[in-house]
Amino acid sequence: MKRHENMAALSCSIGQQTVEYSTLSSEEQEKILHLQQAILESVAHCEDHLEIINQVCRLEEQLLPDSVGSVMLMDNGYEFLNVYAAPSIPPEAVAQLNGLRPGPGAGSCGNVIYRREPQFVSNTFTDPRWQDLRQLAYDFNLCSCWSVPIYSVEHKIVGAFALSSFEHRLPSPFHNKVLEIGSSIIGIVLERNKSQESLRLLQMVFEGSEEGIMITDSNKTILSVNQAFTRILGYSIEELLGETPKKLASGHHDRGFYAAMWKTINTFGHWHGEIWNRSKNGEIIPEWLAISALNDPSGKTTHYIGIFSDIRERKNAEDQIRYLSSHDVLTGLPNRMLFKDRLDNAIAFAARTRLKVALLNLDLDQFKMLNDSLGHAAGDDLLRCVTSRLKMCVRETDTLCRPGGDEFFVALANMPDTDSISAMVDKIHEQISKPIVLEGHHISLSCSIGIAVYPDDGGNFETLMKRADNAMYQAKDAGRNTYRYFREQLNNDSHEFIRITHGLREAVKSNQFTLHFQPQVDLAAGKVLGAEALVRWNHPVEGLIPPGCFIGIAEQTGLIVEIGEWVLHEACRQAVAWQLAGLPPMVMAVNMSAVQFKRGNVKKLIRSALDSSGLDPQHLEIELTESMLIHDMNYMLSLLNELKDMGLKLSIDDFGTGYSSLAYLKKFKIDRLKIDQSFVRDIATDPNDAAIVHAIVQMAHTLSLQVIAEGVENEEMLQYVSRCQCDQAQGYHFARPMLPEVFSAFIADRAQGD
Ligand code: C2E
Ligand code: CA
Ligand code: CA
Repeated sequence: MKRHENMAALSCSIGQQTVEYSTLSSEEQEKILHLQQAILESVAHCEDHLEIINQVCRLEEQLLPDSVGSVMLMDNGYEFLNVYAAPSIPPEAVAQLNGLRPGPGAGSCGNVIYRREPQFVSNTFTDPRWQDLRQLAYDFNLCSCWSVPIYSVEHKIVGAFALSSFEHRLPSPFHNKVLEIGSSIIGIVLERNKSQESLRLLQMVFEGSEEGIMITDSNKTILSVNQAFTRILGYSIEELLGETPKKLASGHHDRGFYAAMWKTINTFGHWHGEIWNRSKNGEIIPEWLAISALNDPSGKTTHYIGIFSDIRERKNAEDQIRYLSSHDVLTGLPNRMLFKDRLDNAIAFAARTRLKVALLNLDLDQFKMLNDSLGHAAGDDLLRCVTSRLKMCVRETDTLCRPGGDEFFVALANMPDTDSISAMVDKIHEQISKPIVLEGHHISLSCSIGIAVYPDDGGNFETLMKRADNAMYQAKDAGRNTYRYFREQLNNDSHEFIRITHGLREAVKSNQFTLHFQPQVDLAAGKVLGAEALVRWNHPVEGLIPPGCFIGIAEQTGLIVEIGEWVLHEACRQAVAWQLAGLPPMVMAVNMSAVQFKRGNVKKLIRSALDSSGLDPQHLEIELTESMLIHDMNYMLSLLNELKDMGLKLSIDDFGTGYSSLAYLKKFKIDRLKIDQSFVRDIATDPNDAAIVHAIVQMAHTLSLQVIAEGVENEEMLQYVSRCQCDQAQGYHFARPMLPEVFSAFIADRAQGD
């Protein structure tokens, strides 16, 4: 099993726990984190499940001096308890415990099964629950014994996990937590072992088959597919692991069809029939499919197996296939392929008539969050609603397309000029922004639109597509809920663009930049732990220009590489200067642009900035954005690993605005998330935002990531982000970005206040 699956399993088990993490002292929280980390490591590195469980026992023993851990499991007939793991209990005691029949006097573990709840016995010599095991308690000086149930994934109690002590005592909330963690991990490890056992048996039948075969666990999570499957549907096993068969759905069958199918499988153990799936390249594949449920001896389903043959050739419903292959099933809109055809036609016509064609790339803002919080069915309704609103805005000659997700393309044909394009875009923008009532929720949608125009911005589909996409990101960067023409951003002939570019070149040459520093405050300790370096352009005539006015152009022209070099060197130099002046050591956070990673030699730059300043790498943090990680993932993965090896810290800026999920970020060795200001801005008024922040923090903590909230402007926001358990905060409430000397005075001031 791969590490990230373990992490997912762990985070879900952690989610089930009942002891509130926040009720523990920080020292205890730290111990818990270390425990989780150590367990995680043994799960990731160790193949042998018994060894992992032994290790869990030992780790827990370390957290409770003078105690021994043990795991007892029910036998197949669910009659007796046997010792499964007890690395520190002498074999004679194990022998006496084996074959224990659960009952009111059968010790703590026997009572866990008998009463179906945790048992905390502080005096085994007198407690009636230890009646049958009294001799054992005396013989081995087991004075107290706490035991908690171990559950299977189906939430059946399969055994008990116990810590027995050589003194009389009762558990604190911390010990409860430790027990909970142990039992849930043991449950997961046992489950994982079971699935591997069954899989080995299937292996031989599996690879030889001509038919496509897929194996899922009882939750329909895909565990394995064979080569024939890969050949027919085009997905590799890596792309399917952890997914469910829903990923393959063509959209051709409605929910009722699947519900009936699963009902048959769960009643009779199998189903067969015709089903249409969709291959990776979008093709509809009609299949003859047989699904069986695999049960264990107790009749509980452990896996599903699907075997199918490809019956494309047998099918004559070709027209229908063609329609489905060229349309998006959810909305009925043309898919990308058909859209390209239509756009090509519109371009050909425009070329003859000297008209313009506008290609709009429209992306819904925050759709992923809505989809996650309202559920996928509501998300689908929302997409259909957007589709019908778009249809209201466009003409017969225009084409709409949903290439996937929350993205739409619009081709506006026969446009005489830019003004008429803007008028159409305004209309679309206004329509999408009208509130929607969905299942009683009032939802305000917004979208970001990027526009590329034929012939001004490009002569063919690919170029226009790329530029509209580019412009869409500019619209997102501009704070969303707006639109941007490609030209507006990138037209190198525009007067303003040239003026600023020219000025920036001069600024780089004669060093017209300054850094301001904004403190980052640790919420638990109330101390300033770091500073973010924010660049300003000190223009000889116009005065101080904020980064929002020039970073974009610096990126487009590549000047950001040189500006960024200066910023990093200066930030490192300043950090060391403060240390020498006696300020407490802080982490200096520096923003880096995607362009620096693409065009500059980031590794070399960082090394040189560290070397020339003498800054300890652990005091430098690089702020990245989600999109940087996603765009060239493999490259970034190895580069960031190298940076981590140098000892720096990495954080994700503006977290929550991008597309990545936390699950995805686990691949990268990130230290910290910076929750985007947009969530913090409304945290006190929008319960959605508060819930999102809370969820992000919890997930981040289970992955041992720190979380900082940005844009904290007042006491109320601070209260909220503290309640959401953010670790740190940054914002005008503490201080605005300041010149270095103001910053150090600020720190000195705070130190005096302490
Ligand atoms: P950012 O990295 O998200 O930086 C935070 C921005 O939020 C800063 O704006 C900061 O002044 C502002 N801010 C801080 N506290 C609050 C608050 O409580 N309320 C509000 N409304 N705003 C707050 P600034 O300095 O104008 O920087 C804007 C953006 O410019 C930065 O956003 C960053 O993306 C970029 N930037 C700044 N310096 C650099 C740099 O050296 N290199 C690169 N590549 N980008 C930079
Ligand atoms: Ca930043
Ligand atoms: Ca930010």
